[in-house]
Amino acid sequence: MRALSSFPRVPLGIFPTPIQKLKNISSKLNTNVYIKRDDLTGIGLGGNKVRKLEFLLADARRKGAQVVFTTGGAQSNHAMLTAAAAGKLGMRPILILKKRGVTERKGNQLLESLMGTEVILMDTDDYTDIYAEMDRIGSSLGVPYYKIPCGGSNALGSLGYVDCAREISGQGVHFDHLVCAEGSGGTMAGLALGARLFLPGTKVHGMMVDTDPFDQITPALMREAASLLEADIGISGEDYHLVDMCGPGYAIPSQEGNAAISLLAKEEGLFLDPVYTGKAFAGLLKMAEEGAFQKTDNVLFLHSGGAGGIFAML
Ligand SMILES: *Cc1c(COP(=O)(O)O)cnc(C)c1O
Repeated sequence: MRALSSFPRVPLGIFPTPIQKLKNISSKLNTNVYIKRDDLTGIGLGGNKVRKLEFLLADARRKGAQVVFTTGGAQSNHAMLTAAAAGKLGMRPILILKKRGVTERKGNQLLESLMGTEVILMDTDDYTDIYAEMDRIGSSLGVPYYKIPCGGSNALGSLGYVDCAREISGQGVHFDHLVCAEGSGGTMAGLALGARLFLPGTKVHGMMVDTDPFDQITPALMREAASLLEADIGISGEDYHLVDMCGPGYAIPSQEGNAAISLLAKEEGLFLDPVYTGKAFAGLLKMAEEGAFQKTDNVLFLHSGGAGGIFAML
């Protein structure tokens, strides 16, 4: 297997991120719940995209890109963080976002306006249109450009979360369960592959917050990332567990998600977001209710960030 450290990487974040025990939640649920603070990754408002961008922007830089395109919804945390990181590295970010949801100067749109980011809102529901528009604009600029897919969720981006699993393996607690949100798939695929490689005995649960076919996306991305790493392992349905927590729709707050946000705010003084982590934590609560965790189990929840969404959507 190829070492993760052999891949080009730009330092953007502060790692390792801390792991804390949620004492009040643990006694309520009668198990041991911990939180991995990837909301504290050190640039923008923090969040999971920083780990992916360390690999993706290193690749962009190595290829001589002067312009970096990415996409997502109008309030995409990934797009905002790409703008922050690319700008810091001296590349020019251009965001082509889907014109749906909150497009006012709120949340991530406000942060983009503070950074002076070029944002184009495109009236389409199809990312193929958006990638074609990137090529149209990119080729008219006459400088090398680099396209990062929605959520940074390709095999290279997923390596950020393979590395996160490696990081967790050195933080002193054995976890029986690891719970994260799944939106475009790279985080879950990276963690599930990383668990195979570095966290034997840890089950990874992906809380789906969108309606894409994650039962296909997850293993496909895991296999692609494994092949980048030249890791000779087979991936099966045993390696990941998916739970539908989307509720009324992607980026539409759900009742369970909002209740989870209030619970964590009140009990632990921590803030989850309405699009991803609130719904994912609601999934953890649901699993606890269904008796999925033993009293002596250690359960790790990945706080993947998303603070911008609180101020746009709640
Ligand atoms: C993008 C995002 C996720 C989901 O990660 P994917 O790799 O896209 O599945 C989870 N939480 C937050 C806050 C995000 O911005």
